[in-house]
Parts: sequence; structure tokens; C-alpha cells
Amino acid sequence: MREAHPVIKNPLLEELLPPRQIVFIVNPKAGTNIQRHIRQSVDRHLNHRMFTYGIWHTEHAGHAAELTQKACEEGYDIVVAVGGDGSINEVASVLMHTETVLGIIPAGSGNGLAMHLGYGRDLDNAVRKLNTARVQTIDCGKLNGRPFINLAGIGFDGFVAKQMKGSNWRGFLPYFLHSVKAGLTFTPHTCTIETEDRTVTERCFVVTVANGPMYGYNFQIAPDARLDDGLFSVVIFRDVPRWQYFAALPASLNGKLYEAGFVEHFTARRVKISCEDRAFVHVDGESIEVAGDLEFEIIPKALRVLVPA
Ligand SMILES: [Mg+2]
Repeated sequence: MREAHPVIKNPLLEELLPPRQIVFIVNPKAGTNIQRHIRQSVDRHLNHRMFTYGIWHTEHAGHAAELTQKACEEGYDIVVAVGGDGSINEVASVLMHTETVLGIIPAGSGNGLAMHLGYGRDLDNAVRKLNTARVQTIDCGKLNGRPFINLAGIGFDGFVAKQMKGSNWRGFLPYFLHSVKAGLTFTPHTCTIETEDRTVTERCFVVTVANGPMYGYNFQIAPDARLDDGLFSVVIFRDVPRWQYFAALPASLNGKLYEAGFVEHFTARRVKISCEDRAFVHVDGESIEVAGDLEFEIIPKALRVLVPA
């Protein structure tokens, strides 16, 4: 008996399917080479038998979210955020709980999620990877109702995010210099961290609630974090002499941060953090103001993402 709809085994035959519609959302003011060369790279390296594409430029803060909404309404299959974790956050917040798939072209100062997924740093390669990527459904986090995709944190990294907000100078060097300066001036807070199965009160240099494992530059804050296990990895740096953090940097680049003596870590679905005074907070590298307690909730399987093969 013949099958009515034979399964297509040869991936090349997928090119006979109608082309998928893909739109790239670009912030032209971000001003890196990637934002300038995206059109040329997409022209040359995207598979035009598989995709029809648009490139849309943002004109003001919050515009990426509006454009993403428009793309969903117009039936685009894939929305590509061209930027760092902050840009991804804006696009992904709209794509949560929809069928529309998130793609990424890394072009920010912190590209933790893109690096973890394997997009790499090269623009042309990242575009080519879209041609053969597969769709994976991942978890998202919420902090007091506000979505995040990669990392949220309190304390030192929130303090650095706040310093970076006022600076137009982006990239590794300013990030590093801000971090060193902040490392010398930041005062840790006493925080109480409550999850479904434990309560910890500690003087903390940083508390990270991780969906993905890394900041940019291969710095792995939560090497065990998985994007699709329905759990956060919570990572605490206890307040110890600062040289110990610097000494642990090489280990953190090799996925061995948990071996450092000042680190405490565990997993949780829900996390509530109360601090003795107002804390510095970031979601996906963007500094935000939060009054009162911080309540984190994992939203399992909330976002469809293109992952390089
Ligand atoms: Mg997880």
C-alpha cells in the first residue's frame, strides 16, 4: 500500500517547500560593523530558496517589540534579533507563547545566549547557520512578571549593568574596565534567598538566577544551566576578599566556576530574594529598578528558538 504522504527523508527536498518568511530586526544606532553589514551578508549567505526576508530598522526604544508584534501579525515564521542579550530580550518577550521562532545574529557587548547556542562571532557564519538550524523549544524566566531569556542577577552584575547604561562605549574593554572599577567600589548586601526547598541568608557579592549558562566572552556563571529543563540554576558568590573572584576567572572560562570556594549553587523553579536595602538588578544585561522583593518564576517551554545544527 502506498503512503498518502511519504515522509521526506532527503533534506535537500525541503527546498521544494514554500519559502519561510524571515525578518531581521536591526538597531542601526547600535553602530557595530554587524549592524552596518547585515544586508550585504543576508544577500550573500542566506539560502534564498528557503527564505524570503525583510530587514527592519528600529527607530526608538521599545520599537523592536512593536516590530516583532507586527511580524507575528503579518505571518512571519522567524524573527531574528540582531544584537546582544538585551535586544534578544525585547524580541523574545513578544514571541513567548507564540509559534513564531526566534533567530539570533549576535551583535552586542554581551552575547551569552548566542554564544551558548553556537552562533559564533562571525556575521557571515551566523547568517549561514540559519540555513541549517533546527527549532528548539526553551524555557524563559520571569522576574516580578518581566521576562528574561538568559540571566537575571542582583548585586555586582546589576551594578555593572547600571554603570554600562550611562556609557556609549561598548565592547569587551569598557565592560572589563567597568567591572574592575565596580569590583573595587561595590558594597555587597545581605540577602535572603528562598526556593521551594531551602532558605539561605548570606552576605552576597552577586546572586544570579540563570536560565542559560553564560554572560558574553565565554564567562560561564552557571555551567550546569540547561535551557529546557524547567529549572533555574541559582548561583551565589559569598562575600570574600575580592582577589578570590579574580583568581577564579580562568576556572569560570573553563566551566569550572562551581569549584571555587566562595560559590554556592542549587536549582529551583521559584526563587524569592529579599535584600536588606535596595539592590542593583539586571535582566539579560539591562539594568532595571525593582522596589521590594524579587520573585522569579520559570516558564517552561515558552519560546521557540532556531539553534545552529
Ligand atoms: Mg534551566
